[in-house]
Amino acid sequence: MKDPPSTVGRPVRRRPPLRGDLVTLAGYHSPQVQVEVRLNTNESPLPPPRAWVEALAAEVAGVEWHRYPDRHALALRQAIAAHHGVGPEQVYAANGSNEVIQALCLAYGGHGRRVAVFEPTYRLHSHIPSVTGTDVVAGRRTPGLALDGAEVRRVMAETTPAITFLCSPNNPTGMVDDPAVVAEVADQGGGLVVVDEAYGQFSRWSALTLVDDQRPLVVTRTLSKTWSMAAARLGYLVGPAWLVAELEAVTLPYHLDALKQVAGRLAFGFEAEMSERVAAVVDERTRLVAAMGDMAVEQWPSEANFVLFRPTGGDGHAVWQGLLHRGVLVRDCSSWPGLEGCLRVTIGTPAEDDAFLAALAEVVGP
Ligand code: PMP
Repeated sequence: MKDPPSTVGRPVRRRPPLRGDLVTLAGYHSPQVQVEVRLNTNESPLPPPRAWVEALAAEVAGVEWHRYPDRHALALRQAIAAHHGVGPEQVYAANGSNEVIQALCLAYGGHGRRVAVFEPTYRLHSHIPSVTGTDVVAGRRTPGLALDGAEVRRVMAETTPAITFLCSPNNPTGMVDDPAVVAEVADQGGGLVVVDEAYGQFSRWSALTLVDDQRPLVVTRTLSKTWSMAAARLGYLVGPAWLVAELEAVTLPYHLDALKQVAGRLAFGFEAEMSERVAAVVDERTRLVAAMGDMAVEQWPSEANFVLFRPTGGDGHAVWQGLLHRGVLVRDCSSWPGLEGCLRVTIGTPAEDDAFLAALAEVVGP
């Protein structure tokens, strides 16, 4: 192998300065550790159905790799639209629902505009706006971590946000927003309302019923969780047709590759299998919550595929380490504002959940 060219004696070039507003902004990462039981990123514990993998393999052979993919991803959007009983012109798809959020911030946020979030909530709802140069105003949830209608009204009236992010079920609390509050916020006429339903299938209520061309509200969803397709990076929104058309302005040409379009389109042919997975996770969640009820932890009512809990009288971070020491990785939220001492566990397979419960019983005791 040839040696790389020497840099000795060459003038040192000045590095281009990073945008000033990004200097103090840390990247967003969920720390990964190689352990037996990984219950920290809210993925599905089960792989997608075998028949989906086979159908995908069969269609991949027919992809015209020398051609750009369908720029409008119409077949994929039609499949998503049929699943929700809306028209494809009401569906916008991107590389994960995070990218959908980014497109919304690029289109409706930006310099001199604000987004509102209600903490504690999904951290990317403030991180992505910051990256797009949008200011973030943070309202609070109630002491019980529920969305508070009066607080939402106050923040919207005082700060006139261009975008208000709601998250139902909320990550990391798992709690579902009050439908009356969401409807009221959407009808207040104060900018765009985004209801992030990454965990929507686990919940008893969806804001999809509020989507209407007359209302500035969108619902975002992902194939990363219930659809067992985190590796595919595919998410979407359902919203007014005019908004989907406006997002064209911030979307890169051919942003969804051909393989992803096929993978997503085929996934919607497996709704029964997806529903079985959701039911299995909900059963496991019920079992986990009941077992944790006998331990020295406080927990919040979850309608998602994870549970937020706080070891009573203990140091959350020390409990996180104790679990890790026993081969179980959960999410350490103990230093996040408003979540002091809290941890979040993703529902896994029965065997993974048993391992978690056994480790937790050892660390916190009954
Ligand atoms: N929204 C929420 C509330 C989430 O928890 C996540 C995943 N952590 C996402 C959006 C992003 O999902 P993805 O980009 O994988 O579609």
